[in-house]
Amino acid sequence: MKYRSTRGASTQAKTAAEAVVQGLAEDGGLYIPVDFPQPNLSLDQLVGISLQQASTMVLSWFMDDLSDKQRQDSIKQAYGSQWDDSRITPLTDWVGGNYYLELFHGPTLAFKDVALQLLPQLMTKSAQTIGLDRQIVILTATSGDTGGASMDGFSDVAGTQVVVFYPHHGVSPVQLHQMRSVPGDNLTPVAIDGNFDDAQRNVKQLFNDQSLEEELAAHQLQFSSANSMNIGRLIPQIAYYFYAYGQLLARHEIAVGDGVNFTVPTGNFGDILAGYYAKKLGLPVQRLICASDQNKVLTDFFHSGKYDRQRQFFVTNSPSMDILVSSNLERLLFDAAGGDKQRVASLMTQLQNDGHYHVNADEKAFLDRHFAAGFADQQMVRDEIHRAYAEDHYLMDPHTAVASVVARRYQQESGDQTPMVIVSTASPFKFPETVYQSLTGQAVDQPGLPAIRQLQEFLDVELPQGVAALFDRQDRPQRVTGPAEMGSTLRDILHLN
Ligand SMILES: *Cc1c(COP(=O)(O)O)cnc(C)c1O
Repeated sequence: MKYRSTRGASTQAKTAAEAVVQGLAEDGGLYIPVDFPQPNLSLDQLVGISLQQASTMVLSWFMDDLSDKQRQDSIKQAYGSQWDDSRITPLTDWVGGNYYLELFHGPTLAFKDVALQLLPQLMTKSAQTIGLDRQIVILTATSGDTGGASMDGFSDVAGTQVVVFYPHHGVSPVQLHQMRSVPGDNLTPVAIDGNFDDAQRNVKQLFNDQSLEEELAAHQLQFSSANSMNIGRLIPQIAYYFYAYGQLLARHEIAVGDGVNFTVPTGNFGDILAGYYAKKLGLPVQRLICASDQNKVLTDFFHSGKYDRQRQFFVTNSPSMDILVSSNLERLLFDAAGGDKQRVASLMTQLQNDGHYHVNADEKAFLDRHFAAGFADQQMVRDEIHRAYAEDHYLMDPHTAVASVVARRYQQESGDQTPMVIVSTASPFKFPETVYQSLTGQAVDQPGLPAIRQLQEFLDVELPQGVAALFDRQDRPQRVTGPAEMGSTLRDILHLN
């Protein structure tokens, strides 16, 4: 199993371990398999498999340079008692016409944990496998959830340091508290005066900065990434699509071979791309529905074939989806363009220089075969949270509500009766302000932890373990920097000067 870049100038193919440790390709592209795995999959085998079994299967396809034992140990460490549900990613029963795949039962209450509890294990074992003798610096831009989840996953993991850049005014109070309070001597969260796209663009630039790379090397350091640009982040996410299908089989909701649709609340396009990869591996996924919030650049893209990041940016009640440049779309474009690296490189250059690009008719037809898309504004999100609780007794967070709105509209408009799984990406307690307001019509008295209490009292339920733990943790002092000073801040943190 070898990996290469989506843009692929002249870079040599990498093993999985090399790609995971490195994170981003040298030419600024993203790693993808040279030959996509074509497992001899018998769908019967999926009946009732656990998430751990699904992960074992997926890792064996994508990371064959780690030993069985290394992979097993990693999965065991990642999916244990830090989850508040022993199924790890439980699939609900049929709720108001759909199933919800709940990915938020981990320590930081959002779906990023599924990958980021496993990635540190995979990365340290990959580093051993390739005989790396440097410390790994995980450099991350976050729209809110990746920051907390990567710090939790890498907390005090030997041989690693984590630096997280997050938008100063674009993350929720609970996300902020989570990021600032994760224990661990190897973690540094930094606020930037800018939005997620500023953070992500500058992080990409730091990754590609030759002189910085040399400075790091002189200090026995090297960058890697915990963003979904890292293929090691994506691979673990493929597993829960297989798990969900296996659950539907075990419950006789579908028969072997039946198609299933997934609606995925989307930001950086990592989660939904993992669903597309599951399909490519042979899972009968019929259609993937890409759900956006008010920052609906992807909805417009799938409808018109034009990707245009030049537009107003909104800070919404689904902050983890407030993104205008969805990095992982590049991996899908690679397939849409029939594997033409030059074409991908040229589209990405157009996006950088002109702020937009168009796909051609063949590429558009490819996208239409696999995907549909829609968006929900903030009022629709509040209404959906209210509706689902009142009608279906199901409580959802704003990100999941975006997907739920889009899924239901898709079903109405298309008449598509295929069973639908809605990917549920965050705990309602992670966004208590919006959830409380949606349910009661009233604002909370105070945001953050007090809002969690207020929501809990209203609902009259116990707090999940990851939520309860937040009340015992202290914030570290906040460090703030400008987007243009991210490089010097980083040098400072790593003592390169
Ligand atoms: C990150 C995130 C998303 C978006 O996932 P992508 O892989 O970036 O598309 C959706 N919901 C929540 C709660 C998230 O944390």
